[in-house]
Amino acid sequence: MKLQTFGIGKDSERKITTYKFETCGKVIMLDCGGDRLTSSDVSDVDYLFISHEHLDHWQGLIRLITHFKNDCLIYTTQTTKKIIAEIFREKLTYEKFGAQKTNEILNRFNQIQTLYFFNEQKLDNDLKVTLYPSGHTFGSSMIYLVSPDVKLLYTGDMDYVSGKDYRTYYCPDSLEVDIIIMDGTNFLGNDFKTQFINKKAGAVKHINEIKFHVRPEKAVFLAQKLSEIKCLDEHVIIYENDLNWYLRIISEQGYNAYALNKIVLANHFMAPMDIPKTIRLSSRKFSEHNVDWSFGLHISKDDTVNFAHQFKSFPKVYFGHYCLKNYDDYLTSCKPYDFKLLGEGGNEL
Ligand SMILES: [Zn+2]
Repeated sequence: MKLQTFGIGKDSERKITTYKFETCGKVIMLDCGGDRLTSSDVSDVDYLFISHEHLDHWQGLIRLITHFKNDCLIYTTQTTKKIIAEIFREKLTYEKFGAQKTNEILNRFNQIQTLYFFNEQKLDNDLKVTLYPSGHTFGSSMIYLVSPDVKLLYTGDMDYVSGKDYRTYYCPDSLEVDIIIMDGTNFLGNDFKTQFINKKAGAVKHINEIKFHVRPEKAVFLAQKLSEIKCLDEHVIIYENDLNWYLRIISEQGYNAYALNKIVLANHFMAPMDIPKTIRLSSRKFSEHNVDWSFGLHISKDDTVNFAHQFKSFPKVYFGHYCLKNYDDYLTSCKPYDFKLLGEGGNEL
């Protein structure tokens, strides 16, 4: 199978985030973040799937959405659609396309279809898709496509921790998979983010309040992760005004990774005295550190191996989303497992 990939970022941190291939006469695109995507790259696409809200996976839509064919169907989860709609509107104001073009873009955006996790959707006589939670952000999905030619699982960005039920985002191991395109971010064993989260989780057990000064989506995501680690008996997420839209969507969607964890959203400056454990979210940066922590967790190396090997069908494993600059190091890391790296441009799978 021929797979075309598109990357994003400066040379020093460039990674592949967009994939395109053809099966049973249909052209499929997985994510749309590539910064060198052109109108001709998207003009023949029949189905586009957006895995999650992070811009590196869909930002090409802002520029190119009107260049997709009129009958191209774009799919994502409802949560992701709602979140990217907010970002989309903000970006459109900033880009200043003019009234007519802006309307055209918004119309196309509104036509994006939404899918539920675990529900198989027939796209065509020969083509079916099912989304599974990927554990990376609220509403983020893995995309499983089945045609007579190929059974392909694209994980998007993912988080998964083997042996921990509450941090395992599953798709059934009975799934028949020929090819997995996986999140290769941490395949060098660089798993500092998971360690960081776990350290924070440890701290939360002992203190009454923890503050995170990060971008809204990251802050909310961290709170979600902490809630999954079950370090709190009760979670009260205190947030600042500029997080409103994000939290509103999550609250409306009722998207909570685990029903057993109680997350209360409250917009208070101070934590109410009678609430024992609090997570405070803020989008402002720490003035003394001035850092913006990135909390979109990616699967660790060990768990990648575990995840890929769970399928009885022994799929071929390909990595995207790794730093292309470190190709040789990743290659060494992949060798013992016979995992393959995707290059930017054309690939033969
Ligand atoms: Zn991401």
